Amino acid sequence: MDPRGGLPDGGGRAPGAGAAFVDSAPRCADGGGAVSPGAPIDVRLENVVKRFGDEVIAVDGVSVEIPHGSFFALLGPSGCGKTTTLRMIGGFEEPTEGSIYLGDIDVVGLPPYKRNVNTVFQSYALFPHMTIGENVAFGLERRKVDKKEIKGRVLEILELVDLKGRENGKPKQLSGGQQQRVALARALVNTPRVLLLDEPLGALDLKLRKQMQLELKRIQAEVGITFVHVTHDQEEAMTMADTIAVMNQGKIEQLGTPTELYERPKTTFVANFLGTSNLLDGTVEGPGTVRLADGTLVQVDTAGSSGHVSIGVRPEKVSLGDAHPNTLSGKVKESAYIGVATQVVVTTAVGDVSVFHQNSEAGGLIPAPGDNVTVSWRADSGFVVNKERTLG
Ligand code: ATP
Repeated sequence: MDPRGGLPDGGGRAPGAGAAFVDSAPRCADGGGAVSPGAPIDVRLENVVKRFGDEVIAVDGVSVEIPHGSFFALLGPSGCGKTTTLRMIGGFEEPTEGSIYLGDIDVVGLPPYKRNVNTVFQSYALFPHMTIGENVAFGLERRKVDKKEIKGRVLEILELVDLKGRENGKPKQLSGGQQQRVALARALVNTPRVLLLDEPLGALDLKLRKQMQLELKRIQAEVGITFVHVTHDQEEAMTMADTIAVMNQGKIEQLGTPTELYERPKTTFVANFLGTSNLLDGTVEGPGTVRLADGTLVQVDTAGSSGHVSIGVRPEKVSLGDAHPNTLSGKVKESAYIGVATQVVVTTAVGDVSVFHQNSEAGGLIPAPGDNVTVSWRADSGFVVNKERTLG
């Protein structure tokens, strides 16, 4: 298999296409993406299943539509099936069941080089004996594109990835982050319909990774090509993607914008995978009201929920004191100063509640272990999650 991915020309995706947000699938409530209204669907998966032998169901009935111009992340823990999903889009694996479309073309059975996609891997695998310019030009040369055009496109794409003037250097003269940008340039220069990114920043140190996350986001916004990105790092997915599919055990657990997933997770898995949540068991008492196990009534948006539920609230949305309508009293179990905030864990009758208390000037006194305190949060700061794992 050629790790440099497929090389067909990309159907003339104009750089800069797709600039504003929209309500086409994947459906996102709060916008913020780079998808144009009415954008065509670039990738469509219909009931895709991938089995390895009789035992392993790596991907278990995934259906999703990714519109042109999306920065789409497949996010989940190790073994959840995200890489297998990406590899099936790229043609490195074939589904056991289901269909995969790139645009209107059913690509199941087509080898990677016949699919209008390119893949950037974690190991960027540049040719060490070639110059940076030659590495980027490689795919275009293979397709026998006119020499003058190649030169122009290579210089243009190197400028895009911030490596202008480095075309005559060798890969070994570059840092890890710069080499990864060459790999990106090499994949983008063919203007694929879709760029697949398989943990592309995994080999970089934390500081460089954070820098590259912003770089990748800028580059995607500039070229307007659909990016499908695999990561297990929730912060990375939230920084870059306009839509995230959270995967768990081969299924998409929830699909949405970063804000939607963080503010309104629908399952305990999503609530805990993206950040930290306080989850308290209760029963829906009526519209907008949940009764907790100790009888406390909590105001929360209960739309679409009934019976036994968990209500969630993020630690940074819980305040010390009774300033907000939802209150619980308890005793401080632990208090840890972490610089920007102090994390206070309060034991209440319905379980431990974590509070991130910002260490601002107006922050007030931090209670010590053993102190009796009240914690409170606003009605619109909480959310209700399904107790069952799977969603419809
Ligand atoms: P990671 O982040 O660790 O790469 P992932 O979410 O990308 O995990 P996959 O690599 O898609 O997960 O794997 C999903 C499941 O399929 C795992 O249980 C894995 O062991 C299994 N699997 C993947 N590839 C194969 C294979 N070629 N043969 C057998 N089982 C496989």
